[in-house]
Amino acid sequence: MTSIALYIHVPFCETKCPYCDFNTYAGIEHLVPQYVDALAQELRLWGQALASNPLSDVASPRATIDEGSSQQPVATLFFGGGTPSYLSPEHIQRLMDTARASFHLLPDAEATLESNPGDVTRERLDAWRKAGVNRLSIGAQSLDDGLLHLLGRRHSAAEAMQAYRNARAAGFANINLDLMFGLPGQTLAQWQDTLERVLHLRPEHLSLYCLTLEEGTPLEAWVRGGKVPEPDPDLAADMYELAQEQAGAAGYRRYEISNWALPGYEAQHNLAYWRSQPYLGVGPGAHSYLEGQRFAVTRSPRAYVERVRECSRLAPSLWTPAVLKERGLLESAEAVGARQEMAETMMMGLRLAEGVPDEPFRQRFGLGLQEAYPRQVRELLDLRLLRWEDGRLKLAPRGWLLGNEVFHRFLG
Ligand code: SF4
Repeated sequence: MTSIALYIHVPFCETKCPYCDFNTYAGIEHLVPQYVDALAQELRLWGQALASNPLSDVASPRATIDEGSSQQPVATLFFGGGTPSYLSPEHIQRLMDTARASFHLLPDAEATLESNPGDVTRERLDAWRKAGVNRLSIGAQSLDDGLLHLLGRRHSAAEAMQAYRNARAAGFANINLDLMFGLPGQTLAQWQDTLERVLHLRPEHLSLYCLTLEEGTPLEAWVRGGKVPEPDPDLAADMYELAQEQAGAAGYRRYEISNWALPGYEAQHNLAYWRSQPYLGVGPGAHSYLEGQRFAVTRSPRAYVERVRECSRLAPSLWTPAVLKERGLLESAEAVGARQEMAETMMMGLRLAEGVPDEPFRQRFGLGLQEAYPRQVRELLDLRLLRWEDGRLKLAPRGWLLGNEVFHRFLG
């Protein structure tokens, strides 16, 4: 039976950062106990549905139940948000226990928890490890206090460094640090300093994201109103190249546009997304892709709690995207056509250094890459944005900086 990636969304943050447009809220902590109950219920119900009904519209007709186990295998589990570390350790333990009881969590499953530096105390770290979390992602974002202030972060650079050291001391052997560049007013020297200090720490994994000014966020309004300087895209490109230069020299491999890892520490959960493998997302606003079906949970945490309660009365055989959409737990559910699936495979797969392999694509869709996309492939090869290597279509060196130029051509 094909294993899946399991995503658990935590829509709470102590304060909302001015650049963030994720489905997360400050000031609704009173909902946490009901939300955790609902989440545990949703996990149990999906576990039952996928175990008892693997050939329904929630799974591929190609999937078959493993003879040894009727539970859906889960290869990776990811607590994302929001701020998962904002939940109490008891809540994390309960959700891990529920996931283990509801699914067949593979023995070597990667279990990641996203955290804010201020929450990364020794006590919590020990509790997360005990619960089964084996990979910690720390939202450091910058090691410059002025930029952290601009980003509305509640921690200092020193606290971010301390969080990392605490995690190491607690025995975490797989740590990711999230950092942002291309920030308003950020200089190349500031970025270089942050990179040097971070590389000196030797986390196993680095996610380095260029700031996107999301419409409707306070930061976007401040930039539009001239209150903070507009980020310079050329400088951001220089920062990206510097990151690749420095991380590469320090032994990290850029395996995805925004992600670098020491050998063997690539994020298995995110690889499942980029390789268009099946995943299940639970919690408000979470997305799922179980072969042939794409669906998203309602975004409002309050509505989520109510809808899970209502839908928990359904028999497992009725726990399907179509029925859950009708009952309002899902805000969207659609069958993904072959053409759309091919486009998504290209757009996600080309983000990876490994690219998109021709032969598996042919086996999956009945067409090779050049037959499926003759014009796009030819043009992108001519523009030296893509290249062929070992039967795979990959980003060429120029393509790494111009990824969006590449991906949008496969839309539609
Ligand atoms: S902590 Fe993370 S998820 Fe929460 S508001 Fe800030 S950026 Fe968004």
